[in-house]
Amino acid sequence: MLIVPEGEIAGLMTREAAFDAVEKVFAAMASGEAYNFPVIREAIGHEDALYGFKGGFDQAGLALGLKAGGYWPHNMDKRGLINHQSTIFLFDPDTGKVRAMVGGNLLTALRTAAASSVSIRHLAREDAKTIGMIGAGHQAQFQLRAALEQRSFEKVIGWNLHPEMLGNLETVATEAGLPFEAVELDDMRKADVIITITSSFAPILAADQVSPGTHIACMGTDTVGKQEVDARLLSRATVFTDEVTQSVSLGEAQHAVAEGLIAEADVSQLGAVINGSNPGRTSDDQITLFDGTGVGLQDLAVAASVVDLAVQKGVAIKVDF
Ligand code: NAD
Repeated sequence: MLIVPEGEIAGLMTREAAFDAVEKVFAAMASGEAYNFPVIREAIGHEDALYGFKGGFDQAGLALGLKAGGYWPHNMDKRGLINHQSTIFLFDPDTGKVRAMVGGNLLTALRTAAASSVSIRHLAREDAKTIGMIGAGHQAQFQLRAALEQRSFEKVIGWNLHPEMLGNLETVATEAGLPFEAVELDDMRKADVIITITSSFAPILAADQVSPGTHIACMGTDTVGKQEVDARLLSRATVFTDEVTQSVSLGEAQHAVAEGLIAEADVSQLGAVINGSNPGRTSDDQITLFDGTGVGLQDLAVAASVVDLAVQKGVAIKVDF
C-alpha cells in the first residue's frame, strides 16, 4: 500500500492536475463509465461532529474507493486543527486490495475549486471580466484562485456575511494583480461570473440580483437544508450539476425542486457539456448555474492523480499491508 501524507500534498498537486482529473471524471459520469455510491453522513453525537463516506467507481480511470471524514466544528478553537478532516482510500479494482491512503484535506479544497473552474471553463461567457464572490472562508480563496485562471478577469468583487473576512478574497485578487472591491449584494449585477461558497441555511442572493448572461457556481450547499440563492434564480437559469441525484436532494436545486419551480429533468450533468452531448450555454444573455454538490469520484480522481505524482517524485511511502 502507498501512503501520501497530508503534508506532502501541497508540494505535489497542482491546480491544473486537479482541473484535469475533475473534468475527466465529470465526463466519465455523464457517459455512464463512472458512478457515485450513496453518501453516508452521520451526526455521531461526539464533539458535534458530522462524519461520513463518499465513494464510487470510475471504470474509465480505474479509480475505486472512498473518502472518509467530515466536520469537527471545535477543532480550530480547541486544538488549532482545521475543522474539515478527511482521508481518501483507493482500492485495486481488479483485486479489492487497498492501494493507497491519501490525505484528503487540501485535496478537498482543490477538487471543489476545480469543479467550479470546470463549470466556468465550459459555461461562462468568453468575455467575462468581473467575478463576484459570496463567501470568504477557507474554500473561497481556493475557489477564487482557480476561477481567475479560466477567463481574462479584470476585477474581483465580494460580499460576505462577516465582512471582516473579506481580506481573504482581497489577498487572492492582489496576488493575481487585480483590484478588489467589497460590495452590496445588489452590486452582484455587475458580475459576469459569481461563485457562492458559504455555509448558509437561507438564501443570500435574490433572483433579480443576477444579470442576464451571468454564470453562477453555487458551491456551498452540500447538505439538506443549506441554501445560498433564491430558489427562483434556478427557474431563471439553465441548471447544471455534478450529480443530478445529489443536486435535487442535498444541493442548491433541492429547494427549487421541492417548491415545484423546476423539475429534476431540468437539471443537466456538466459532464454532458464536456462530452459535447449537451450544448451548454447557447446565448450570451442566458444565465447558467452550476450546482456543485461535491461527489466522491472527484476525491478519488484527485487522489489517484496525486498518488501517480508521489510515485514519480519518490515521496510515496510504501507499506506491506
Ligand atoms: P468556512 O467556515 O471557512 O467559511 C464559511 C463561510 O460561510 C464564510 O464566508 C462565512 O462568513 C459564511 N457563513 C457562515 N455562516 C453563514 C450564514 N449563516 N449565512 C451566510 N454566510 C455564512 O467554511 P468553508 O470551508 O469555506 O466551506 C464553505 C461551505 O462550502 C460549507 O458549507 C461547506 O460545507 C461547503 N463545501 C462544499 C463542497 C462541495 O464540494 N460543494 C466542498 C467543501 C466544502
